[in-house]
Amino acid sequence: KVRTRFAPSPTGFIHLGNIRSALYPWAFARSQGGTFILRIEDTDVERSSQAAVDVILEGMAWLGLDPDEGPYYQMQRMDRYKEVVAQMRAKGLVYPCYMSVQELDQLRERQMANKEKPRYDGTWRPEPGKALPPVPEGVQPVWRFRNPAGGPVVWDDKVKGRIEISNEELDDLVIARPDGTPTYNFCVVVDDIDMRITHVIRGDDHVNNTPRQINIFRALGQEPPVYAHLPTVLNEQGEKMSKRNGAKPVTQFRDEGFLADAVVNYLARLGWSHGDDEIFSREQFLQWFDLDHLGRSAAQFDEAKLRWVNAQHMKAMPDTQLADLVAPRLRERGIQPDARLAPICGLFKDRCDTTVALADWAVRFYSPVQPAAQDLDRHITEGVRPALSMLAKMLEGVPWEKGAIAEAIREVLRATGLKMPQLAMPVRVLVLGTPQTPSLDAVLELSLRDEVVRRLSNG
Ligand code: GLU
Repeated sequence: KVRTRFAPSPTGFIHLGNIRSALYPWAFARSQGGTFILRIEDTDVERSSQAAVDVILEGMAWLGLDPDEGPYYQMQRMDRYKEVVAQMRAKGLVYPCYMSVQELDQLRERQMANKEKPRYDGTWRPEPGKALPPVPEGVQPVWRFRNPAGGPVVWDDKVKGRIEISNEELDDLVIARPDGTPTYNFCVVVDDIDMRITHVIRGDDHVNNTPRQINIFRALGQEPPVYAHLPTVLNEQGEKMSKRNGAKPVTQFRDEGFLADAVVNYLARLGWSHGDDEIFSREQFLQWFDLDHLGRSAAQFDEAKLRWVNAQHMKAMPDTQLADLVAPRLRERGIQPDARLAPICGLFKDRCDTTVALADWAVRFYSPVQPAAQDLDRHITEGVRPALSMLAKMLEGVPWEKGAIAEAIREVLRATGLKMPQLAMPVRVLVLGTPQTPSLDAVLELSLRDEVVRRLSNG
């Protein structure tokens, strides 16, 4: 049974590049009938914050990446880690190391001077027949993992292929500090074991940790999971995406009017592919997702592309559903939407790439518009005013539907000798505040009669 996890560190506001590492394990679990687990890696107390946890939870809920288990919090599992350290001590899998910080620094300097890779030299590692240095008084040791001395660590990464690291390159990792607190790589392994994780799908910034983690798995008598290390997501400048260089928190895309399904679609394609398919639903994605089509090269975030994907999803979305997303944005602006909102969304969705843009259009049907001075100057000429008054009069009496409205407009054209655009442009400017609108009769039909008459008469 497949069990995957997303294990974010709540040290900054999660951005789209990070949450892609939630999307794939979620999709893999869903598509395999497995279980998706959320684990908050909050052991870096200084840098972790509740606000960052909230953005993770909110962002995942928004995108519909619901965990089946969790969130688990590493800070709440300290006792368990300490228990495993104690077991490892009992089995001789770890040993105390009393090397001081100064000694470690000196060691590193010597190694650097000899052009060697800095690594712990095993001074305190017990070996048969080896004399250890005298234990210094009053010093609490760190506990180091007895890494296998030789041989390779090998795994078949689902993205990167076969990776082989020689144990000679790995030194004995500290798994518990002098005060007993466990270290990062160790906690991850204990969690992945306890949570019975079968597939670890995570960013490739963790590739270097993997051989160490695999050795700890084996020492604890467990087979390691399958690993898939995802290539980095770069920002538009080609740098690693991060909050520091301007990546927005996931929830900001919600606030800016992106659809969850569109963001899921966009992120899915950012490092995975299904032939040439660009636009697909969440259901299709879950049907298609597999670990064999994860991309090997870094993906680059492109907001213009995301907007395009969002526009495609908006076009495909039923008007009532769009209206449900737009309605709260109107209420925020003090507007109470009515039954017109869904057809208004239908009429304008083709020209919008976010629901915020759609709300901006809808607002014009519910509250006064302020046409730009240049549009007023250009379109509301003395020559057209009599036609506008005439139209206002006629519209007071016609049945309020497209056909009758169109007929009224035609009658005014006949009576005044104006051409369609000469009348339609000023009406658009007065009614919706801009000359760029969809078909005029459709716009008028969705406007309130009294309001149209008032806007035309005041023109
Ligand atoms: N907490 C790590 C991070 O946020 C992920 C660890 C893992 O997936 O194993 O980068």
